[in-house]
Amino acid sequence: MNTPLLTAALDAAERGWHVFPLRPRDKRPALHGESACVHTGDCAEGHRKWEQRATTNPGRIRYCWEYAPANIGIATGPSGLVVVDLDMLKPSDPEGTPDGVTAFKALCERAGQEVPSTYRTRTASGGQHLYFTAPTGARLTNTAGRLHRKIDTRAWGGYVVAPGSTTPAGNYTVIDPAPVAPLPDWLHKPLTPRQVPRALTAAPTPSKGSAYATAALRAETANVANAGEGVRNFTLLRAARALGRFVASGELDRGEVQEALKGGGLAAGLRESECTPVITSALNWSITHNQGKAS
Ligand SMILES: [Zn+2]
Repeated sequence: MNTPLLTAALDAAERGWHVFPLRPRDKRPALHGESACVHTGDCAEGHRKWEQRATTNPGRIRYCWEYAPANIGIATGPSGLVVVDLDMLKPSDPEGTPDGVTAFKALCERAGQEVPSTYRTRTASGGQHLYFTAPTGARLTNTAGRLHRKIDTRAWGGYVVAPGSTTPAGNYTVIDPAPVAPLPDWLHKPLTPRQVPRALTAAPTPSKGSAYATAALRAETANVANAGEGVRNFTLLRAARALGRFVASGELDRGEVQEALKGGGLAAGLRESECTPVITSALNWSITHNQGKAS
């Protein structure tokens, strides 16, 4: 019997959080992915991913955790949670980069707000998770670096590792058992998905693009539009470099790529004078690098 993990999973479910098993001593889901689905049991009517299979049902939780030493995932979307994930620094981070906890304190200060008092856990790597209830009527999704570098958020489409879980890096523990607070308005606003204004993007179907190139153009533009303040310049640069090869191969029109990326950059809060030089130089670089391969 894995009493501590079972108890932790039942505790989470009692709070209304939808749990699913992660691999033992690991952060990855233990449930099969779509490509491995044999369409039986939960998947008899079609594959169901962890977000759909996560449950608050004590019977199902006992069945799963009574004998399997699975770590615990909380599917944030169905649980009505938005979790702010404050990351630790990596060796590859530039010197002087604030870690997630420091960046979040600074963010609160700049907004003239107290650091919210809410349920908080410590992650195995030493980062922190702040739990909030999702605003009603809003369907927030995950964000990476939208609030600041080293600050991600988990909502629909995401999950967090629950306290009680263990990985080789350490344990997930509760460091503030305070009740889960509603997501403050000042945090809700920047987490709302951004729409790229149609007028700023390329025509819905670029004039000559292959389906693949067209999909890449849309995806990269959306990435740029949703990039956070700390990562939007880099995201724009990376997007322009990625799309440059389609320009080099003649699958996308340079002018259309520039317009689309500029639209994305403006939606992300960059000024036109900031977008244009990045797009121009990254496209030039990419086209030069890809010309040899474009035949
Ligand atoms: Zn399945």
